[in-house]
Amino acid sequence: MRLLLMGPPGAGKGTQAQIVAGLLGVPHISTGDIFRANVSQGTPLGREAKRYMDAGEYVPDDVTNAMVRDRLGQQDCTPGFLLDGYPRTLDQVTQLEGMLADLGCNLDRVLELTVDIDEVVGRLVKRAADQGRSDDTEEVIRRRLEVYAEQTAPLIENYAQRGIMAEVDGMGSVDEVTDRLRACLGI
Ligand code: ADP
Repeated sequence: MRLLLMGPPGAGKGTQAQIVAGLLGVPHISTGDIFRANVSQGTPLGREAKRYMDAGEYVPDDVTNAMVRDRLGQQDCTPGFLLDGYPRTLDQVTQLEGMLADLGCNLDRVLELTVDIDEVVGRLVKRAADQGRSDDTEEVIRRRLEVYAEQTAPLIENYAQRGIMAEVDGMGSVDEVTDRLRACLGI
């Protein structure tokens, strides 16, 4: 199963992606997690990414695409994968198509978690307090939601036209949302 999970910041993508990837037995590939790991290790990629992340902007496509190409080429992705937080721009959609074509495979499903925006801001402010993420201040959160609406929401239309897209209600408890995702995927 090759799956994409989308949704605005704070929709609970990361939490659900980890659970669903575990159920499917495929790697959970989160571009945000990979960037954060590079930031904390102080790699050149991390130093470059941090400037954008701290401002709530997307890391440039060429940097992100190269990183995902490298990750999808690793052996554990052969049986499938769950992508979380990528693609987020139309350029990334096109680049991902190229990577999948090179690997001789296709995306099976794209799921979008939908949420209430006030609920999302509340969740992110709480996460900032719990985890101390430097991109979870209220100002940066608002910018990330704007960037999502501008750049990433149009991708939904693109995948919807291909008939592989489904929306899943992201409101409620973690278990409730997981149950909806499982029902949608038939697992
Ligand atoms: P969120 O979904 O809450 O924004 P993520 O952990 O997915 O959190 O991403 C954190 C930050 O990492 C983003 O704001 C952005 O700067 C960067 N990032 C993650 N994925 C991508 C991507 N596909 N393209 C560009 N930047 C990305």
